[in-house]
Amino acid sequence: MNNILINDTTLRDGEQAAGVAFTLAEKTAIASLLNSMGVQEIEVGIPAMGKVEQEAIAHLVHQNFKADLISWNRAVISDIVASLACGMKRVHISIPVSQIQIDVKFQGQVSLMLNKLRDTINFAKDHGLFVALGGEDASRADQAFLLDVVLAAQEWGVSRFRYCDTVGILDPFTTYERVSHLVQSLPIPVEMHTHNDFGLATANALAGIKAGASAVNTTVNGLGERAGNAALEEIVMALKQIYGIKLGIDTSRLTELSRLVVMASGGHLPPWKAIVGENAFTHESGIHTAGVLKNPNTYEPFAPEIVGSQRRLLAGKHSGRHLLKEILASQGIFLDQEELRSLLESVRHFSSQVKRNLTSEELLKLASHFVNQKEINYAN
Ligand code: MN
Repeated sequence: MNNILINDTTLRDGEQAAGVAFTLAEKTAIASLLNSMGVQEIEVGIPAMGKVEQEAIAHLVHQNFKADLISWNRAVISDIVASLACGMKRVHISIPVSQIQIDVKFQGQVSLMLNKLRDTINFAKDHGLFVALGGEDASRADQAFLLDVVLAAQEWGVSRFRYCDTVGILDPFTTYERVSHLVQSLPIPVEMHTHNDFGLATANALAGIKAGASAVNTTVNGLGERAGNAALEEIVMALKQIYGIKLGIDTSRLTELSRLVVMASGGHLPPWKAIVGENAFTHESGIHTAGVLKNPNTYEPFAPEIVGSQRRLLAGKHSGRHLLKEILASQGIFLDQEELRSLLESVRHFSSQVKRNLTSEELLKLASHFVNQKEINYAN
């Protein structure tokens, strides 16, 4: 499990999320940041979509990124022509492999489909392209048929195979079994492409990697079709922190990257989103904040700085006196135990009413009640 290649498809599958359309400036900013963080490969889009997309892709090609750029294509020669026109050196060619997809897209004609695939691969190879094959709906395909298709495509010249869980129906155990078999039977590297329909995209991608897949397709924030894809930040941090794999990726910019993609894609992230959510390093409950104040490792899997985030300790309904004392002490306010207990009651009452944490100003305002009393006492 070393040398795992990250191929980020925020600009292709990410943009396919309903309602998302990146501008050229947004695409360039996202690709530049991915590139400078050290992501090895970026799937930039679908040249066959037309002029605007082609101009954007050609613009990215001209940036001369260190990252390899790859375009998404159907098994159609005109798609490869469009990719070549953009200056692509690498193409991903997608072919449906499940019966349901072959029926809908090729009227069930497998030999017609394979002929098209062969011709398209030959054309791409004749033009000196690196060719990766994508097995669309691979998880619902007959696995023996799938292997036959990939072995044939490998003979025709493809250099990598993408195992697509297109509708996100895999679980990590099945993924492990299937991918192990595939990796043992194939001379070319396997890449995982997983969807999050059951919330298992990251788990399935990791299971595939554990089974020997050496590449993984990700999107920032898990953006993508329906429930989205395996999230870049989750895959990168799981590989780094759980498996100790060095990816050569600057993780300290993951939060910045996430914010950039939130801005560009519209909408918002749930605060509890893994790794990059606003609450990923936020503590409110009394037991947790008291622990974190003594040693952050008590309730954090890793330091927020590793992903360019920061720890927040907030006063709210579940707060304890430790935190209130700490926050007030940082403002030069010192209350005794009895006062802290009364203040805690006010904080809990206030927070329950407004259904959120207190701002520092609100906390100080509640605390000022006791401070004023003290001053009055001194005056006496
Ligand atoms: Mn997909």
